[in-house]
Amino acid sequence: MNWTTISEGVISTVVGTLVSAFLIFLTKSLFYKKSEITQKNEQVPIFQDLFLITLFLTSFFIVLTFFSLVYQWVTFNAAYLILASIGLGFTTVLTYRKQCPNCRRVIHAKKLMKKETLSEEKRPYIYRDETVYLYTDGTVKDRVFNGPQKTIMETWRMEKESYECESCHYKWEEAFEKNLSANNRPKPTRRKTNYRNPNNFG
Ligand SMILES: [Zn+2]
Repeated sequence: MNWTTISEGVISTVVGTLVSAFLIFLTKSLFYKKSEITQKNEQVPIFQDLFLITLFLTSFFIVLTFFSLVYQWVTFNAAYLILASIGLGFTTVLTYRKQCPNCRRVIHAKKLMKKETLSEEKRPYIYRDETVYLYTDGTVKDRVFNGPQKTIMETWRMEKESYECESCHYKWEEAFEKNLSANNRPKPTRRKTNYRNPNNFG
């Protein structure tokens, strides 16, 4: 420990906290509607809001990653911090998807009540045959398209899901479309070459 590491640590922690707190403030004031809240089912306070907490942590770790790169930290290596940021990012998306839009609870909240198919339609998917050439380590060297453009028809389904919050009993719906033929899309032919990846120093 010396003055440089202490000051670097303080600067990055303070900046990380400020940036993340600002992001939380922005999210809360822009996307959290107050009109839906009644006295009976109150919104959880900010320190119990799992989505805002994971969002804060993700943003904090992204800022730390930035400082790790700038200061070339060894112990708090940027590679570990990037991994932590990605993990936290996934957790944030997950908590967002599980969150009740009314009381903002994540646990004991969103419950699927009904699932409906609204419509189904055929849509064209245009592609060309593709060959992927691989280096000896399995990474992609080249992609080559050959032959004319082809079209296959795919089935898309529009679905609607109805949810109810188990805590505040708020009801809401989400609509989305799903490609039922996604697995039938032609995959490129993969060919191994004898070339070594020039970027691989391992
Ligand atoms: Zn709720």
